[in-house]
Parts: sequence; structure tokens; C-alpha cells
Amino acid sequence: FPLSLPVNEPIRQYAPNDPARASLQQKLKQMANEKIEIPCIIGGQEIFTGRAFNVKMPHSHKESIARVHLASPEEIQKAANSALRAKHDWQHMPWNERAAIFLRAAELLAGPYRDILNAATMLGQSKNAYQAEIDSACELIDFLRFNAYYYQQLQKEQPLSVEGVSNSLEYRPLEGFVVAITPFNFTAIGGNLAAAPAMLGNTVVWKPSDTQVLSAYYTMKLFQEAGLPPGVINFVPADGPEFGETILSHPDLAGVHFTGSTGTFQQIWQTIGKNIDKYKTFPRLVGETGGKDFVFAHPSADWESAATGLVRGAFEYQGQKCSAASRAYLPQSLYGKIQEKIISDLSTMKMGDVRDFGCFINAVIDERSFKKISTFIEIAKASSDAKIIAGGNSKMDVGYFIEPTVIETTKPLFRTMVEEIFGPVLTIHVYDDSKLDETLRICDETSPYALTGAIFAQDRQAVEMMSKRLINAAGNFYINDKPTGATVGQQPFGGARKSGTNDKAGSHLNLFSLALSENGER
Ligand code: GLU
Repeated sequence: FPLSLPVNEPIRQYAPNDPARASLQQKLKQMANEKIEIPCIIGGQEIFTGRAFNVKMPHSHKESIARVHLASPEEIQKAANSALRAKHDWQHMPWNERAAIFLRAAELLAGPYRDILNAATMLGQSKNAYQAEIDSACELIDFLRFNAYYYQQLQKEQPLSVEGVSNSLEYRPLEGFVVAITPFNFTAIGGNLAAAPAMLGNTVVWKPSDTQVLSAYYTMKLFQEAGLPPGVINFVPADGPEFGETILSHPDLAGVHFTGSTGTFQQIWQTIGKNIDKYKTFPRLVGETGGKDFVFAHPSADWESAATGLVRGAFEYQGQKCSAASRAYLPQSLYGKIQEKIISDLSTMKMGDVRDFGCFINAVIDERSFKKISTFIEIAKASSDAKIIAGGNSKMDVGYFIEPTVIETTKPLFRTMVEEIFGPVLTIHVYDDSKLDETLRICDETSPYALTGAIFAQDRQAVEMMSKRLINAAGNFYINDKPTGATVGQQPFGGARKSGTNDKAGSHLNLFSLALSENGER
């Protein structure tokens, strides 16, 4: 302290002869055989509730690798009380001591915890080594380091003082406790949704997604090992509706830090509305939700980078990123070449178990997802308005495997073009070059979401014109790049419309939303 602007954690490539690969492989082997019991951690105490379920690997769902103990309403209440008890001391600890704990966690994660979190993310969420590395190692390290830096900078923002009047602004935690409800698809998001409010002096009740408990548990262990005092973050895997009912009606609820589906966030909002008279304060709702993210290529686009952007944007991590490219608008004049490259790139991609480092494509998260995604593919197969030009097959005897699937449709309002699928399915609408204007309007108006979007164009005027036309359709707007992979500190992440409250994770804006500010005059 003072902290200087961090640099992003370098990404390891895990090349075949890299000792980092051997070390990660060894951790994978060990973790797959450990069959650990995952408790609730409330007030620093591990509670094995006995209401348990098995964690299965999505790519090999007959193998269970851990057992999770779920909190009952009683334990959920206990977690809230424990957060409230821990609040006083934590809030009054000097801010830099709190930040130092999370910076220590970043160092541990850059070192000995890296293999642990990467292996847990690979096995539990079916992410290949590279995707795990950019998520559970690099992005989480970045969130921890950058947030500490932004927190420091935030405090330098002071109001004007004039002669005889000295004004100051102080950032305090919210009054009560904060709830973090976190998704399966990014280990880093889980860690950040719990850690960011905690760093500001809030205490937290954290419910991870059922399908991410393994890596969430190791994230919690990482925070504890870094010195997080008991009760500051309370880790409570729980049944979703039971958790919501119990925690959202608590009078001391001060905020919800959420990433997940639009539907769930709306339910949270409704429950809070219904209970509004019960709370001591207006709970802050910070949420990142669904997306139906677009790639729009202009006739002047570099067709090769558009094709690469589509393949990576649509199919990395099986398309299970809120930011994934899921609908594309491509001009007739470039389509032949783009289509050829997409099909040829996909034909070289191996699908399988994450422990085979040659597999680019792994499994989707669970049976429910598998069925939902497969239904969309069937809809396309059965329709005369659509044609499958790549993939289209799925199999769940060993793992939940769905081939990267590309659908072409003549109808820009075809269901797979407008509904969120959250899987490895890309739908393409080919537009007549003379209908650019109308197609831009359709792209902007046909989705309720506005999370990410990308345009590809080389003509500068086209870039300007398209940016203006589509800017409200995406919180994160990319020009000549894929719409996924926002880097902390470079592309603060968050969307508008039905994609969330736009409080940009990985920026000072997110921290603002988790703190009160008070203006004092002396
Ligand atoms: N931040 C991620 C990205 O830019 C997506 C996060 C999410 O899926 O919620 O790809």
C-alpha cells in the first residue's frame, strides 16, 4: 500500500511438455479419487448436515467426485446471524487490512492454489484446461487485485472543500448482510460475488450453484487460508427456492449480488418487493443475467476473423457463457467463405473428457441443460425455416455431450435466433447485402437482452454507423473481436435491458453499488 494499477495475471498455456501440465494432471487424478465431503461453512465452522447429494462430473456422470451437504432453513438463518455477528469487527478493521487478505488470496491462487481451483473447475464444471485457467485462476486473481486497487482509488474521490468548510466522503459497507447467489459457469464470478462486497466491509451469505459447489468450496478454503475471519463469508450450498424464501425475507438483508438467469433475478426482485416493509433498508440489487449475444458482420468485414470470432465466441466452454455468440447476421457476399471456415474449424475439434487435454469441446453442465439444448436442436431439425449445417448430434450415455451445432435460418425471428439457449448452438441469418439497414434494426429490436455483441467491419464509417445503431443492444460491445472473454481492468463486464443492472463487474462501478457513501462536513 498504496497499490499501483495491477497487470493482468499471465495465462498459462499447458503445452504438452510444460511441467505445469504434468502438475495439473496429477492434481486432476488426485481430486477425482478423493471423494471429499463438502460442508456448509458458517461462522468458520464446518457443518455436515447429512442432507447430501453427489457431485457428478458432467463429462462422466456415472462417476461421483464429492458429496455436498445442503443447508436447511435453520442453517440458512444461522448463516445470516453469523454474518451479522461478524460485521462489527470486520467493518471496523482498517480497509487496507481487509484488502490485504484478498490480495493474499490472489497470491495463493497464483501459486499453490492454482492447480486446485483449476482441477476443481475442470472436473466439476467440465471446462478444458485453458478455459479453467482463464476463469478460475486468471480472472479470479484479477478480480481480487483490481478490486483492491479500485477500492483504494474510490476513497481518493473526495468532494470539494472550500475555505472554512472541510467536506469528506466515506465509503461504508451496507447496513445488514449481503447475499451472494452465484452461477455454475464461472468460478471467478462466484469468488468475486462473495469477495467484492466482503472487501468493502460487508459480511456475506454465499449460496453457490448446485453444479459449481466443488470449485466454490475450494474458493472458500482459499479465502480462509488467506486469513478471512470466521463469519465474514458464510458458505451455504442450499436448495434454491428454500434458500430464497428464508434469506430474502430476513429484515437485515442489505443487498443481493447475483449472477444467473433473468427468470431467477426477476423472482428475487419480486420477493424483495413483496417483503419491502420488512427490511431495515432498501436492499441493493446488483445482478448480471441472461443474454442472446450477437455477431454482426458488415460486407467490408475481414471474413476470416469474423469466422474465428464466431467459432470461439459460440463454442468455447460449450457456449455456456452469458456472453456467448448465439445469433449471427452475415452478409450474403461473405457467407460462403465464412461458412466454409466455420465448418472446417469445427471438423478439427475433438469432443470429450477434460482430462484429455486435446479436447476443445467438453460436456454441458447437467441433464437438464442437455435436454433443453437438445430440444432447440430438434426444433431446428423439424422446421423448414432452418437447416443444420454443422453438428446436430448429442449423446448422454457417458457424459452430456452435444456437438457444436450451427443452424442457418432464413427467418431472423426463428426461435433459436431469439431465445436464450445457453449451449453450443449458433444460429446464422444470412442477409442480402442491400438489406443491411433493415437487418440492423432487426438485430437491435428482436432480443429482450443486451449483454454482449460484436460487429465485424473494416470500413471505418461502417464501424461508426453500426456502433451507433447497435450500442443499446449490448452492455459490452466489441468491434472486430469475439463477444466473450472480457478481461478484468480492460473490459468491465455487465449488460442492460433484461441482462442485468449493468454494475460492471471488475470495475469501481461494481464497488460503488456495494457500499454506502456518506458525506460529512466539518
Ligand atoms: N465475463 C464473461 C465473458 O466475458 C462472461 C460471464 C458470464 O457468462 O456471466 O465471457
